[in-house]
Amino acid sequence: MQVLSVTPEIFPLVKTGGLADVAGALPLALAGQGVAMRSLVPGYPSVMAAFNKKKPLLAYPDLHGGRAAVYAAHAAGLDLLVLDAPHLFERIGGPYGDATGADWPDNWRRFAALGLVGADLAGGKAAGYSPDIVHAHDWQAAMTLAYMRYGRAPSVPSVMTVHNLAFQGSFPAGIFPQLGLPDSAMTLDGVEYYGGVGFLKAGLQAASAITTVSPTYAQEIRTPAFGMGLDGLINLRAGDLHGIVNGIDVEIWNPETDRHLAATYSAETLTARAANKRAVEERFNLDHDAGPIFCVVSRLSWQKGLDVLISILDQIIAGGGRLAVLGSGDQGLEGALLAAAARHRGRVGVVTGYDEALSHLMQGGCDAILVPSRFEPCGLTQLYGLRYGCVPIVARTGGLADTIIDANEAAISASVATGFQFAPESGDAFLHAVRRAMHAYADPTVWQSLQLQGMKADVSWDRSAAKYVELYNSLILKQTAD
Ligand code: ADP
Repeated sequence: MQVLSVTPEIFPLVKTGGLADVAGALPLALAGQGVAMRSLVPGYPSVMAAFNKKKPLLAYPDLHGGRAAVYAAHAAGLDLLVLDAPHLFERIGGPYGDATGADWPDNWRRFAALGLVGADLAGGKAAGYSPDIVHAHDWQAAMTLAYMRYGRAPSVPSVMTVHNLAFQGSFPAGIFPQLGLPDSAMTLDGVEYYGGVGFLKAGLQAASAITTVSPTYAQEIRTPAFGMGLDGLINLRAGDLHGIVNGIDVEIWNPETDRHLAATYSAETLTARAANKRAVEERFNLDHDAGPIFCVVSRLSWQKGLDVLISILDQIIAGGGRLAVLGSGDQGLEGALLAAAARHRGRVGVVTGYDEALSHLMQGGCDAILVPSRFEPCGLTQLYGLRYGCVPIVARTGGLADTIIDANEAAISASVATGFQFAPESGDAFLHAVRRAMHAYADPTVWQSLQLQGMKADVSWDRSAAKYVELYNSLILKQTAD
């Protein structure tokens, strides 16, 4: 089976969040299950630098204002189709905006172009390639499915995966004439969304199946509280909606071989983690003591609930905890965290920016990872935490609810607990969970059992990839039956 994945990010070439990890790991997991996945990605500078151009598979004399071409490439073990369009993607800054964080004003054009090319590939325009399924990730890839539906490949089955419903790609109606879609597409069951154009909305309408990255989030997005305005549409499509939890790349995230750690370790050699904890203390200027180090590795945004952490931070420190934070994003949150670090020298350390290597060291050296998200489609950092014996303390929402087993009395005595959950999203509930964790930490037998249970959990892609294969097969069968 041939699957075309269309994605705006792919690890290790370009990453701003969990989507990149998923888009990079899924093809490798599927390869082991008889599915050949090729990934269409924008030719950002970091992607173009990873391969040598040969003859293009497709060429466009004018794709939204400039020349473009699609190249087949093998890079970082991935089978890529790279959309080389310098006027759209060859820019200094991030994939979606400049260095100050401001969105590129022509994002609609950049990702409409990606979608159009995806639909051309879906329709067999590149000689010798015609995928059986198209799998689009998030709003940036969603227009692929709209272009397919309105002419380019109406009969190829498709999957739209929502990694985060908060990002929808909504644009003013004025762009519609430039999209090259028929007028009939500008309707309620097409691309029209609250009077403008909605890229994700268009993909949700056009997809044969919709998936999101955990079963709980799949249920949550059917409610007004989590549906971000799309719950009505999602409910209409509930019969085609699936929740498949993400796995992680267990080769890259392996404490036994991780070169970012000061000391590698396994479930049998957990005491070796101490050297990593020491390295974390050095890096974050934390005091050396026997108490736990809590950590955060996160985008700093409202979604992640870090304002709630800030509201209880003094109490965590007063209770004997230390905190190491790695994050970037919202200036207000960054400022508040830096102020806390200044207030609690030796107890709170903050590194701002994006640092893949440090994120590994923290999982390998801290005692617990805090994930107090208001909503979390799947979440990856708690899965890395499980694998590294860094016990997750999480809000009971979305994928966090699906992947962590709360250490209540029954779960502890049955030795199945892997972390701590709290609800509702409040400082009191969060603090209570942190205190439960501190209490457990004080008993090394209990704490080690939590760590070991987590390290035993299957967080690999195997099961999830099998679910995608099952879904792809069912869509192909359905299409043949139609
Ligand atoms: P989201 O995709 O919403 O940001 P996830 O938990 O699904 O959240 O994925 C976040 C990914 O980004 C994880 O791989 C995490 O380790 C990584 N990450 C987040 N912030 C940073 C940072 N400042 N430095 C390094 N890695 C980070």
